[in-house]
Amino acid sequence: MTTVEPRVVPGAVTTFQVASPDLEAVVRDLADLRLADMFASGAEHTTLRLVWANDTAGQAGYVVTETPVDSGEYPALSDIAPAAFVEECEIYEQFGTRPAGGKPLNRMMLPPHASLPTLGRKPPAEPEEARAPHMVGGQAFEFPFGPVRQVGVESLYYGLVTSGEEVVDLYLFTWHKHRGLEWRLQGKTPEQALFLAERTEGLSAVAMTWALAAAAEAAAGVQPAKAAQRTRAVALELERLYNHAAAMAALCQSTGLSVGQSAAEIALERLLRLNASAFGHRYLFGVIGTGGASRAPDTDAIRDELPGAYSEFKRAADALLGTNSFVDRLEATGILTADQARDLGLVGPVARASGLTADARLVPGGPYGTQPAVATATAGDVLARFTVMLAEAAESVRLIGQFLDAGTAASTIELPRTAGTGLGWAESPRGEALAWVALGDDGRIARARLRPASARNWRGFDDACRSQNVFTDIPIIEASFWLTAAGMARLQGRRRMTLWFIRGIRRGVVTTRYPARPDASARFLPTPPAFRPRALTRVTADRLVASCPSGALRRDGGVLSYDVGRCTACGRCAAEAPAAVQSSGEFELAATARSVLIKRIPLREER
Ligand code: SF4
Repeated sequence: MTTVEPRVVPGAVTTFQVASPDLEAVVRDLADLRLADMFASGAEHTTLRLVWANDTAGQAGYVVTETPVDSGEYPALSDIAPAAFVEECEIYEQFGTRPAGGKPLNRMMLPPHASLPTLGRKPPAEPEEARAPHMVGGQAFEFPFGPVRQVGVESLYYGLVTSGEEVVDLYLFTWHKHRGLEWRLQGKTPEQALFLAERTEGLSAVAMTWALAAAAEAAAGVQPAKAAQRTRAVALELERLYNHAAAMAALCQSTGLSVGQSAAEIALERLLRLNASAFGHRYLFGVIGTGGASRAPDTDAIRDELPGAYSEFKRAADALLGTNSFVDRLEATGILTADQARDLGLVGPVARASGLTADARLVPGGPYGTQPAVATATAGDVLARFTVMLAEAAESVRLIGQFLDAGTAASTIELPRTAGTGLGWAESPRGEALAWVALGDDGRIARARLRPASARNWRGFDDACRSQNVFTDIPIIEASFWLTAAGMARLQGRRRMTLWFIRGIRRGVVTTRYPARPDASARFLPTPPAFRPRALTRVTADRLVASCPSGALRRDGGVLSYDVGRCTACGRCAAEAPAAVQSSGEFELAATARSVLIKRIPLREER
């Protein structure tokens, strides 16, 4: 068996090659570390990369293994490291490479029958074969919920399996949203890529752009200035503060506490206005630049407004913790054990509320050093997640003060156009955000991997919902996870822009003739009738009027009146008098005036 020493050097990312036959042994050897990500690259020759994180205090860092898997298969790594399962499904959908042994895979990113482009080879089997059995038996039934759930909430489908009130099981489908960000990043310069990374999940805009910028900087061998790094950290802590306020408001909404929700939303609004005062954007877009920060904070605004905004946050939080009806709903709801969180590689407040200590801010090389006090809890329920968020908010305020005192500035570096690979990270409000890039010789991105914390933590949501909860607990658990569907939607191939739209942009023509050609389906689908006046007598017309169920036909003396707007294309008139009526084969009946749709056909005199 091959043994690999975990070569985690504090402050560095260690990358090493693993031959395909050795991969399983290496994964067993590294299984004490947290599997932070797994992804593939290369359409012709596929390379599998595993990112391992060491979360031990004082030894924090990452190990990346690279393995060529040209055979189309690799060992079933999720049997050793369960956190790999979601990525095994993604990799099959995107690269057609699957774990050995025929293990059933869930559909993860692409909807059924999707014809969206992939990052590598398409799977050799039909999409249906990549769907794990979905069984509901006994007295249980599946309650479908979503993907459209309520106004302003992202598309997500829950299959809630229940026997009445208790949640027996929960299937989560996250593939209703498609944006193809990783696909779009190919060929972009790192500077261009930040615009897209910022939109990976807008509520983690700072964290995702920081992670991608850091990955590109590592690939290009660039180190941002200290003051610019502290600017990034100030923005990141402001991002954490407003997200935790938003999660508090969502918890109040899910528990029906409208007064608490209003109090939390007042705090949220004050924090968003503070963001706008400090960096010119309520959601902190545009702060991170390659090699540093594009904007310096308005330190006076932060010093003036942060204490008031945070005291509003604290007032709402203290009131909620003193409200028994609120605390009772959170306690023992949505429990995740430390083992579950560890097996699934969860991150952020969700993992820390179950007793784990993962926090990407502690990885050396950034502006934090050993400063952040990592808040943890052990209960693993919604209340534990809430209290961890509250402690983190207090710590964010303290850290912002320290970074401002140490000095912040805006400065960026244009990255040299060189080839290389790099891994970047940042601790988003939802947990560790990762990015990995491979730059080509021209300095453009050949492959970018984005792994927001949401992509990690959704896999723990199912387990939290199954832990002896009832229907009404689900929104409370979802609020306490505070994840985004957008974070899962970063991978898929892009939707093709319709050709007429592209043509219009190129030629400046915004309208085209419609229809461009006769619709082929008119040959076999029923269409409204066309009349032959020479075969239409009053007697025939009366038969047609009698046969018409919609009232579209009427005889006015020597004229047959035909109202196209009322015709249902049922075909009865053509069947009644085929010599006088035929199918028109014409669908395109739009008119600008209702009166145009009424035709008057003169009738032949009887002889
Ligand atoms: S196709 Fe049907 S609805 Fe239309 S005019 Fe003929 S009988 Fe009436």
